Amino acid sequence: MTDQVRIIEVGPRDGLQNERIPIPVDAKLRFVSKLLNAGIHEIEVTSFVSPKWVPQLGDAQILWPQLPPGGLYSALIPNIKGLERALEVGVERIALFTAASESFTQKNINMSIAQSLETFGEVIAQFRAAKPQGWVRGYVSTAFECPYEGRISPERTCDVARRLIELGVDEVSIGDTIGVAAPDEVRALTKRLIDVLPVERLTYHFHDTYGCAIANVAEALELGVASFDSSAGGLGGCPYAPGATGNLATEDLVYFLRRSGVAISPDLVRLSQATLEILQILGRQPTAKAQVAQLAASETCPT
Ligand code: MG
Repeated sequence: MTDQVRIIEVGPRDGLQNERIPIPVDAKLRFVSKLLNAGIHEIEVTSFVSPKWVPQLGDAQILWPQLPPGGLYSALIPNIKGLERALEVGVERIALFTAASESFTQKNINMSIAQSLETFGEVIAQFRAAKPQGWVRGYVSTAFECPYEGRISPERTCDVARRLIELGVDEVSIGDTIGVAAPDEVRALTKRLIDVLPVERLTYHFHDTYGCAIANVAEALELGVASFDSSAGGLGGCPYAPGATGNLATEDLVYFLRRSGVAISPDLVRLSQATLEILQILGRQPTAKAQVAQLAASETCPT
């Protein structure tokens, strides 16, 4: 049976990248194994960014060759140097990162949007030459609103998405980086996006900062989008609102989809336990709603 909706788990990369407490490689590998055992197959596991900038993911080259078999793994690639390091360990699925906001791109990756797209062109060409069957995703961050510039028009987001498609990415992941969008905005943007790219190549990366992520997923599903990013346990928080919720939790997404009658593989019981060791290392309690509920139910109703 094929899953009716694709879930791309970004916890090991997006969820951990801003955490200061170092997570040992073995704990990361156990995390990935537990995700696989819970029925999650597509996982963005790390980034080949300079260890100087993101120390938490500085172990990418050590981690990658030890990943358990059975997953479709991808890694974030910031530049040619990162690509070279990734190719050395056999990475076949890469993700590139830009944004719809000029100020965000400048502050986040120290490039203009145009410069980031130029770099992507070089990275994609070199990657395709090395891995003709490889897969490329392009992130468009701050697709609805930017923490520095405020609202971003759908035209601007569509323009960056279109340019990524022209550069040859296989899919575009549209990110509500600060988690402020509501369903009406998702509808307006999606209608424009599906004019510039096939809906099969569109993924949404919602954040739950203001609690609208699941409503946004529901809206996008109605318009034919069938691919969503999420982070187990909602790992990742919101770097622009410390203490607030960030990434949509995979548990919340899985619960919502299954309860809505969508055929998907992940097992909520196993999934809810996948982040417990990571949370323990970080000194945190679970906060994702469906995870908390499932853990509590498992305790009171042992199976
Ligand atoms: Mg995120």
